Amino acid sequence: MAKKKVLKKALKHKGLKVKTLLSACLAGVNCVYDGSNKKHPVFLELLKNKKAVIFCPEMLGGLKAPHAPSEIEHSSGGQVLKGVGRVLSCDGKNVTEFFVKGAQKTLEIAKKQGIKKAIMKARSPSCGCGLIYDGTFSKQLIEGDGVATALLKAHGIEVISDEEYLKDIGYQATGNRATKNKKKTCSVIRGT
Ligand code: SF4
Repeated sequence: MAKKKVLKKALKHKGLKVKTLLSACLAGVNCVYDGSNKKHPVFLELLKNKKAVIFCPEMLGGLKAPHAPSEIEHSSGGQVLKGVGRVLSCDGKNVTEFFVKGAQKTLEIAKKQGIKKAIMKARSPSCGCGLIYDGTFSKQLIEGDGVATALLKAHGIEVISDEEYLKDIGYQATGNRATKNKKKTCSVIRGT
């Protein structure tokens, strides 16, 4: 589909009659753990047209990019919120509190702005929706949501991943978008 048509379709998407919460990295903010972003023209367009409010739960929780990559340890965001799951960085630090705080602040933003829908970056331990990494830092996926996604869903906010959204409007999602300034931030990757 021609780019212009897709962008037009993105703005008319049925879920976007009201403002949508959008993972900030999708709109070009360098907040991914390695200091990069995951920008995409469709999401830049949503922001430009004031259809989206950007947020980054990890930054809201107090983490600064770059930082060591983290994964939820053999569990999901819902379990982390219940206090029975942990988020660990690849060098073994327990970073759960940053993720929980970031999720709570994200929910506050959504509530204040009356937001009912969110487009979140796939597979992230904060923003992942439906599938997340399994905690072994070996690119293995398991079913589950990131911590912020789980909290938003628990409060009735509809969450869709960036990949699902792009597919929905007929745009091919790519796994490795925009990786400028990429830095290796953890030299000790835990084994399985
Ligand atoms: S996926 Fe979510 S937590 Fe990670 S950088 Fe993007 S907005 Fe921040």
